[in-house]
Amino acid sequence: MSVNKNERDAESSCLSAEMRRRLELRAQSYRERALKMFPWICARCGREFGGRKLRELTVHHKDHNHEHNPPDGSNWELLCLYCHEYEHTKFPETTGDPIRTDSSSRPPSSTFQPFADLARRLKK
Ligand SMILES: [Zn+2]
Ligand SMILES: [Zn+2]
Repeated sequence: MSVNKNERDAESSCLSAEMRRRLELRAQSYRERALKMFPWICARCGREFGGRKLRELTVHHKDHNHEHNPPDGSNWELLCLYCHEYEHTKFPETTGDPIRTDSSSRPPSSTFQPFADLARRLKK
């Protein structure tokens, strides 16, 4: 009867909420473990994080497999939101078209100068 149906509906939505909660808990736990293990510094741009800004520091999986969470943290890397996005656009998984981010969000690079050679050639 209708009462039974309602009960079943309530149960199934309860179950998916429980699964969602477990997924969130797992994500939280590897993030927390990584934050305990590593200094709160972006591994790519070297910015430091703490307090409210800490939420901008994310846990990146080096092999891009979020199920792969070795206890020694060897698959994790702490990256800020920008560098994390950059890390993923370097290896696009679905399209061969990397997403361009605007230059203000580009991580600073001191060694890579793509136009140095071009400028020298233009001067000649
Ligand atoms: Zn960064
Ligand atoms: Zn990642």
